[in-house]
Amino acid sequence: MPRIELLVIQPTPFCNIDCRYCYLPQRSSKAVVARETLVNLFTQVFASGWTRDGLSIVWHAGEPMVLPTGFYRDAFRIVEGLKPAQLAVGHSFQTNGTLIDDAWCTFFADERVNVGVSIDGPKRFHDRHRVTRAGSGTFDRTIAGIRLLRRHKVPFHVISVLSAASMAAPSELFDFYVEEGIERVCFNVEESEGDHVSQSLAETGIAEAYYRFLAEFWRLSVAAPGKISFIREIEHAIAQVIRPANAPFNNQLVEPFAITSMDWDGNISTFSPELLGLKNSDYEGFSLGNINRDALVDLPQRPNFVRLYSDIRKGVEMCRDLCGYFSVCGGGEPVNKLAENGTFVSTETTYCRLTKMRVTDLVLDTLDRVRPLGVDRETASGAAAVG
Ligand code: SF4
Repeated sequence: MPRIELLVIQPTPFCNIDCRYCYLPQRSSKAVVARETLVNLFTQVFASGWTRDGLSIVWHAGEPMVLPTGFYRDAFRIVEGLKPAQLAVGHSFQTNGTLIDDAWCTFFADERVNVGVSIDGPKRFHDRHRVTRAGSGTFDRTIAGIRLLRRHKVPFHVISVLSAASMAAPSELFDFYVEEGIERVCFNVEESEGDHVSQSLAETGIAEAYYRFLAEFWRLSVAAPGKISFIREIEHAIAQVIRPANAPFNNQLVEPFAITSMDWDGNISTFSPELLGLKNSDYEGFSLGNINRDALVDLPQRPNFVRLYSDIRKGVEMCRDLCGYFSVCGGGEPVNKLAENGTFVSTETTYCRLTKMRVTDLVLDTLDRVRPLGVDRETASGAAAVG
């Protein structure tokens, strides 16, 4: 039986800005998910038996804050009214931060929303890609939103998309975060997804540049305790490398319905959330059904799901056979395999070379240096397969 751990909901495909690397095809559409669609989704999800210990709901795939706070207060009450009593449900927003005001801060605090703000570091990096439809930079509005979150003491993290230029400036990014009181950081690299072809991934030597960036950023953080409390890439890699040897690796991205995604119109997909809305001549799209017309529990029997899952599994098995990093990766991200290799039935991508291989190398290299403290390359579970 599937187990839903993460529900990604697109409340609207609309975004109030127009980032140069955005892959969302419908970001000019002002469509909004109907209340009835949300009721159908939550009714079916909670009746499916596919949720167990906890459920994270991410409101994303468009700018969620273009809708009023009242929309979400109502949606959250729908969830509370329908969910099993013992099920812990948490809500997260990923936002460009340009619309944060006092009312939103009150809402985030009241509802204990996990807030992620997309900011690509200092203005000179951020404004290169994160622009309005008229082409002007959005940094000033985003940093104003972050400062407001801090003033209201709303916990938040940032996600910064790294370019080749910002990867060359780890201390500039570090100083920026510290100056702005940003303590929790996540780094993405510009990916090839859908129609968007990444310029960064095509740069010669990008994997080494990424390694150097993370190594220096980590070193700076360790040298200034109490400033940066969380670097997602490092924390995740450490957790995968140092774990009990018999602990299985859970790669949500290749487990059916572990991540379940729904667009504003009720279309359901799974595996990489970015697949929903993508067009592909081999698969005729990745919508497996519609929550307003279909039974969620029937979707695993649909021929398009069976074929999709079979191809993703084949790619995972190839990874298991061929890749020394499998124990800390679990077969990667299907959407990147499709975008970079043209097929799910494949292994390595530039994306996984950066975000899995080089980050793991960095953690293992660091463990090698601190071996006298008692952890060595051979006893780390990931290292056993990587080395
Ligand atoms: S690192 Fe890349 S090649 Fe290795 S298991 Fe992960 S996706 Fe597959």
